[in-house]
Amino acid sequence: MRVGFIGAGNMAGAIVRGIVASGSVAPEDVVVTSAHGSSARALARETGVDVLGTNEELVEQVGAGGVVVLAVKPHVIPEVLRPLQDLLAEHGSLVVSLAAGTTLARLEKLLPAGQAVVRVMPNVNAQIGAGMAAVCGNAEAGDEQVDSVVGLFEAVGRAIVLPERDFAAYSAIAGCSPAFVFTFIDALARGALRNGLPKAQAVRIAAQAVLGSAQMVLERAADGATPADLVDMVTSPGGTTVAGLVAMEEAGFSPAVVRGVQGAVQRDRELD
Ligand code: NAD
Repeated sequence: MRVGFIGAGNMAGAIVRGIVASGSVAPEDVVVTSAHGSSARALARETGVDVLGTNEELVEQVGAGGVVVLAVKPHVIPEVLRPLQDLLAEHGSLVVSLAAGTTLARLEKLLPAGQAVVRVMPNVNAQIGAGMAAVCGNAEAGDEQVDSVVGLFEAVGRAIVLPERDFAAYSAIAGCSPAFVFTFIDALARGALRNGLPKAQAVRIAAQAVLGSAQMVLERAADGATPADLVDMVTSPGGTTVAGLVAMEEAGFSPAVVRGVQGAVQRDRELD
């Protein structure tokens, strides 16, 4: 399968590095373009993929059975797709969009009639191979095509198929949550700083604790344990953890997080 990336920025770079390093796609089967060629050339030097001069050339080279990934910013999508209509209709490649907040219905309006298109919402952690991606195809995209896209994103983390109606909630807890968690880690470290620990050391300690806690949630979930069960497991009667938790909840921690998710969902719906 040939894969073409229109755009060679942060997200395309993460995915190209991941699929090439995992061997899921050979570098000679990957082609990239970018606005001025410089980001594509840098990515090509690093990974051995090919840089093409135009997006038209990219669609031609990807051909039938291949995947054209739109890895440009959402506002650029209409101008990128406009000149590609006839070529996409002729070659019938699968189109994959990474554009945040751009629905399948909107993409279909910008693509030739009957075009198979898959919307993917990745997250920033794909850059270190620990991403989370949600994948949803339109009516023309077959299960095999959707599965092949899931396979691409599993090279840079986890990927799941999700109905598009759930994308706003998903985006809040997977797309925005890295920023929420970075804020949480920074706040933990500030708490330790207030008690005399150097900030840089406190950040490393807090990040490792958050990483391990996330792993605990994932691994213990297999035995049926919920996050609340894990909280109970680490809070001894009259101990420090319960004292900290009570103080956090008095300051509105859980409602603040739920409101954060709600704010992101609301903004996502406004953007469409
Ligand atoms: P970026 O700004 O890092 O990269 C954009 C790339 O598009 C650049 O290489 C630029 O040269 C190229 N480009 C612009 N116009 C072009 C054109 N006409 N033809 C070819 N290439 C062109 O952006 P990014 O962060 O990689 O985001 C790409 C997409 O991924 C966006 O739609 C974004 O919503 C989505 N996304 C990104 C993240 C993230 O964490 N970065 C997370 C979720 C979704």
